[in-house]
Amino acid sequence: MKLRLILSDQLNTNHSWFNQQNDNVLYLMMEIRQKSDHIKQHKQKLLGILASMRSFANELIDNGHKLKYLYLNDPDNDHNIGWNILKIMEQKNITAFEYQEPDHYDTDVELKQFCDSLDIPAKMVSTEHFLTERNEITTYLKGRKNIRISAYYRYLRKKHNILLYDDGEPYGGKWSYLTDNHNSLRKNEQPPGHLTFHHNLTDIEKTIDASGYECTGKSNAHDFNWPLNRSEALEQLEYFTSKLLPAYGKYQNTMITQSQYLYHSRLSFALNQKMITPGEVIDQVCKTYEQKNKTISLPQIEAFIKKILGFREYMRGIYWQHMPEYRHKNHLFAENKLPGFYYTGNTDMNCLKQVINQNLETSWLHNMQRIAVAGNFTLLAGIHPVEVDNWFSGMFIDASEWIQLPNTHGFSQFADGGLTATIPFAVSARFIKKKSNYCASCKYNPNKKLSKDACPFNAMYWHFYHRNRKRLTWILRTKNIYDTWDAMEAKTRQAYLKKADAFLASMNQ
Ligand SMILES: Cc1cc2nc3c(=O)[nH]c(=O)nc-3n(C[C@H](O)[C@H](O)[C@H](O)COP(=O)(O)OP(=O)(O)OC[C@H]3O[C@@H](n4cnc5c(N)ncnc54)[C@H](O)[C@@H]3O)c2cc1C
Ligand code: SF4
Repeated sequence: MKLRLILSDQLNTNHSWFNQQNDNVLYLMMEIRQKSDHIKQHKQKLLGILASMRSFANELIDNGHKLKYLYLNDPDNDHNIGWNILKIMEQKNITAFEYQEPDHYDTDVELKQFCDSLDIPAKMVSTEHFLTERNEITTYLKGRKNIRISAYYRYLRKKHNILLYDDGEPYGGKWSYLTDNHNSLRKNEQPPGHLTFHHNLTDIEKTIDASGYECTGKSNAHDFNWPLNRSEALEQLEYFTSKLLPAYGKYQNTMITQSQYLYHSRLSFALNQKMITPGEVIDQVCKTYEQKNKTISLPQIEAFIKKILGFREYMRGIYWQHMPEYRHKNHLFAENKLPGFYYTGNTDMNCLKQVINQNLETSWLHNMQRIAVAGNFTLLAGIHPVEVDNWFSGMFIDASEWIQLPNTHGFSQFADGGLTATIPFAVSARFIKKKSNYCASCKYNPNKKLSKDACPFNAMYWHFYHRNRKRLTWILRTKNIYDTWDAMEAKTRQAYLKKADAFLASMNQ
């Protein structure tokens, strides 16, 4: 009998493995404690992973496949992939082993070593999910000086023939459109709301609680609202393309207190668990555009495709190109501890309070909230990148290392020294005020620089550039920033540094 392993994020019911039912194939799934379990986890993240795995397992069984499923609290579960597999191999007459390409670096290494130790045939197959190969960035880079996301995105648009005329030129004559010039909703404009699912996961919650995880965040176990299987993921996609896509690009970077999800798709969890593929998401978005191109403008479509095809595949490429050293990079020598309010929302800085509370409630933030508020603060405050990674990895329902790490460690914290981003994403209060309505009800004043009520981001911004000067001046785009700093009177510069020092010293009190 052949044994086929399905990892916790490989819930692709359309995988060719399942085209035919075969009594000589036994599938194996296991809920195992991870090495990263010491990190505080959002309850919804754990619930989502376990519930989606169990839903997938039920579907396999309903379709007649043979499955061995090891539950979190199963006495037979050794919480180690290799040991669990060996045990099953001994119990059943296993003559061959297969697994799908893992997306987690450590699991990949572990399974390769495990297979080398076997004396039966073992094979790794594709997950049939992504639009690029793991090492496609490395191949693409041959003969090129460096990689930029915009160029990689263009390459992928051409390779997959997405939004192109017959002559290979992009629709509308441009590869990329700036769309996010809307900083608040128009008067009387109300986003249509988000599609909710209503799952009762209280039994799974009991298992999690009994397993001793250190959890935080609102559990929502009695009314869990994320999609947990392929048909719900498709429903979510349909809802997004019919209701939200027409305004996606326009408001993708807007941050407002009255709407958490705005026009975002909330597809990241379903995508990362592989309930749906990026290819089918893109196909549906393009189809919607062809059918409704009088009501949806090209920039809205292109903004979304850039995220799925550009960012998502690019981040994966960066991960496989630079692991495992990537995790330990700390280009800016950031050493501070993450303030405790990241787990409580208990801070006077209203933007942080809003996004941390939203995350505690939903286990989700949109991209701009992650980078311009949560990530910007840790960057400016010099928080150790591993502390930042741990927070982003534990607190978000969609956090899978291959996508979370390049976004956090690289794109947001610049700990990779510019492999992912061309310049640190460091912003002062002016940017947050422009993109959000958070400042309007904050104790601090975004326009003030040095007074007692001045927004802490303003002094922290200059402190960041000043203390990292040696590590950032090679970036051409920082020239204007340093010119502005150098043009200030010495006593103003001193006042900024003193104010930021005092704030940073008080951060954890
Ligand atoms: C610091 C930081 C950490 C992040 N961590 C994660 C993570 O752990 N898991 C994760 O899936 N995304 C992560 N992102 C990317 C992005 O924030 C989320 O994918 C997005 O907010 C998910 O919500 P959505 O599905 O509604 O996205 P939408 O705005 O609707 O976008 C559609 C899809 O595009 C893809 N996408 C969008 N932005 C990015 C991006 N920057 N990188 C890669 N793909 C992107 C996602 O698959 C997303 O589902 C992170 C971004 C930042 C700045
Ligand atoms: S004033 Fe500063 S701290 Fe307050 S919400 Fe605005 S940016 Fe955030």
